[in-house]
Amino acid sequence: MQRDILIIGCGIFGAAIAWSLGRRGLGQRVLIVDRQPAASGATSRAAGLVTQVRADPALQALAGETLVAIELLKTHFGEDVGCHHVGALHIGPLAQQTALAHMLAVCTAAGIRGQWLDKAQVLAQSPWLDPEAFDVAAYFPDECFVDPYLLSSAYLRGAQQMGARLRLDTRVAHIQHKAGAVTGVVLEDDTVLPVRTVVNAAGAWSNLLSVPLGLPLPMAPVRSQYWITERSSEFTPDGPIVFMSDIRAYARSEVGALLFGARESAPAVAHPQALPENLQGFVFDAADPDGWGNLSDAFGSLSRYCPALERMGIAHYITGPSNYTPDGQPIVGASQSIRGLLVASGCNGSGITYSAGVGRLIAELVCGDVPFVDASRLDPARALQIDPFDPDFLQTCAHARATKSTG
Ligand SMILES: Cc1cc2nc3c(=O)[nH]c(=O)nc-3n(C[C@H](O)[C@H](O)[C@H](O)COP(=O)(O)OP(=O)(O)OC[C@H]3O[C@@H](n4cnc5c(N)ncnc54)[C@H](O)[C@@H]3O)c2cc1C
Repeated sequence: MQRDILIIGCGIFGAAIAWSLGRRGLGQRVLIVDRQPAASGATSRAAGLVTQVRADPALQALAGETLVAIELLKTHFGEDVGCHHVGALHIGPLAQQTALAHMLAVCTAAGIRGQWLDKAQVLAQSPWLDPEAFDVAAYFPDECFVDPYLLSSAYLRGAQQMGARLRLDTRVAHIQHKAGAVTGVVLEDDTVLPVRTVVNAAGAWSNLLSVPLGLPLPMAPVRSQYWITERSSEFTPDGPIVFMSDIRAYARSEVGALLFGARESAPAVAHPQALPENLQGFVFDAADPDGWGNLSDAFGSLSRYCPALERMGIAHYITGPSNYTPDGQPIVGASQSIRGLLVASGCNGSGITYSAGVGRLIAELVCGDVPFVDASRLDPARALQIDPFDPDFLQTCAHARATKSTG
């Protein structure tokens, strides 16, 4: 059978899209290509948080699909994606009470469980927190974290079982179109793969394929990063994820250690054309390759919440690109000017969380079904006037990461 649906990129978005297409009986028509090993881009670097607690209903719904998919992969496909159903605490000073109350109300209305906890209840779950550092705490029991590589691999295996084919070492040079419709993709050796539908899921590199088509995607690859401490008995193995939004930080357990991230006030951003194909060894900021500068800026506030950090060594530093958009919305949808062209990108640091929702949405658009969420704000063509390679625009995207809210 002719494979007429081509997905460019086998990160978690590409894999989830293939899986969703397979579930709609289109697996035999799907070819996924990647120039690198599967899930070796941003996906393998993620902290793996899957968080449905958000103010925006469409984003809640995308995340909710992933929670459903994790269960389905386990029960129907026997896949263990390293899911830890630990829940999430959102804690902060009294000044955060109104915002937290709002989030609780929004989530409860959407059927997402949540409740206030007092300090004793918080400390019973997360004894490493200093009770003097926070006044209010809301707990959402259904939040979890996964192994992003395992989740991506599980989508991919499921897709392959349903007929999708993966082709690695395959670099798409550009997407071809004629008379307003996709006709195929051209590989770097000039081979043409004729297809009628192309999904650009090329992660931080999506704009390199999209801009030449007159479809600039409003996003830029901004540095995401986190650190993992040495192991210590002070950290409960399956304590909840903890969000400390007043200091733009989060933490979760990681096999006896603490994994924590802190968003900088001025994050480093890469020019998409300067991003190597293989991220191994890539540094965003030569002056601060290991993020020590950012860590020392954040350290005072982090150790206020977690005094144990003062005496703890850092065992690992993980960094990679996340595509931030000025409006905080992902970029998922079909081009209106080139039939058969779809985009799934602009993850805003939440691509693991959104993965199954993005997969479902793209599959519905390919099938011509009514989308399960209002996708109007995710439209790839929502900012055709921008130049995604302009240095000022890159800074706008970096600022979007610095100022994003937890939810
Ligand atoms: C440090 C860090 C922590 C994070 N933590 C979280 C988290 O806790 N929770 C969460 O939800 N998200 C998190 N994220 C974000 C998450 O990792 C991303 O949103 C997600 O991995 C994006 O997946 P993707 O498939 O779009 O991109 P990628 O995984 O980068 O995949 C894109 C693929 O496209 C391929 N490609 C590109 N161009 C071409 C071409 N021309 N031809 C062929 N192949 C091509 C690449 O080789 C690559 O494999 C984090 C990100 C980072 C960096």
